[in-house]
Amino acid sequence: MNQEPPTNQTPEDEILLQTLRAQSWDEFVGQDTIKKSLRLGIKAALQRKESLDHTLLFGPAGLGKTTLSYLIAREMNVDIRITSGTALNKAGDLAAILTNLKDGDVLFIDEIHRLPKIVEETLYPAMEDFVLDIVIGKGPSARTVRLELPQFTIVGATTRFGLLSGPFRDRFGLIHRLSYYKPQALADIIIKGAKKLNVKIDQKSALEIGRRSRGTPRIALKLLKRVRDYVQVNKSGQISPTEVHNALKMLAIDTKGLDETDRRLLKKIIVLHKGGPVGLSTMAATLLEDPGTIEEVIEPYLLQIGFLKRTPQGRVVTEAAYQYLGRKYP
Ligand code: ADP
Repeated sequence: MNQEPPTNQTPEDEILLQTLRAQSWDEFVGQDTIKKSLRLGIKAALQRKESLDHTLLFGPAGLGKTTLSYLIAREMNVDIRITSGTALNKAGDLAAILTNLKDGDVLFIDEIHRLPKIVEETLYPAMEDFVLDIVIGKGPSARTVRLELPQFTIVGATTRFGLLSGPFRDRFGLIHRLSYYKPQALADIIIKGAKKLNVKIDQKSALEIGRRSRGTPRIALKLLKRVRDYVQVNKSGQISPTEVHNALKMLAIDTKGLDETDRRLLKKIIVLHKGGPVGLSTMAATLLEDPGTIEEVIEPYLLQIGFLKRTPQGRVVTEAAYQYLGRKYP
């Protein structure tokens, strides 16, 4: 059992996830093809004493894109600088970051699909030839100055591959799609995480949490923490499958890992739109949710497990989802 002193405040989820971040390739479970390809690329780059090719990682949130970028930097033995497509909103911001990098350094750009066009285009020569053209002054006296940059590597992460322009994608030498994890892989991640948290957990309980984690390591680690809290407060001793079941029931997370929001989305489409098809903006208005959240956070897993289908006319709830919710399929 975890023996935290009572004065020790529970850390916020993000801090917790930082401490649980995989520190080595061995700790990074699954995604074997990606790991193999990255490690090969890194080895070759190290042998040639060059920077690694620019790398694009895409897939739903929480699958390990940031963690992989840290592992890349660690194995290349270089520093990593973290930024995001929303933070880099002026070409000047980009220049400030790029000119401060050292040879080989990794620049991780999260949500790279959110980079403004002007920043994206400034990035092209930087990615290709390691130079930066900046305009100094305004009007007729404006002139372009070319700055030499160190040989750096961009690792871009995105949940929306389709939103990246063709020319931008083409500038990445390595492109990898991260896929959802199987329950057993999530159980392995949970067991490794539990060790770091000094929490005892058996295989069966870890697998039970794994099954309900929507294929996502970040969710698996968060649920582990919730279950740990539950067991600690209820003084029920060690984590067991029954405790997992009770804790997740309290959180309204069902056996497929769906929560209130997922079920509400499906039910609203069934009740208000006869199961669909319904457009994203209508769905967002009905649910009072932001369309981006629906598209990037809620929908991907429902599509993955075949509860929702995307058609040219809009989203449709499938027969499997009707059955799961105990409703008659029309
Ligand atoms: P993303 O950048 O894709 O949103 P992160 O890299 O931030 O995801 O991962 C979220 C959490 O899940 C981190 O704590 C990370 O250590 C853990 N994690 C993700 N993928 C794996 C994996 N394959 N093995 C072990 N832990 C993982």
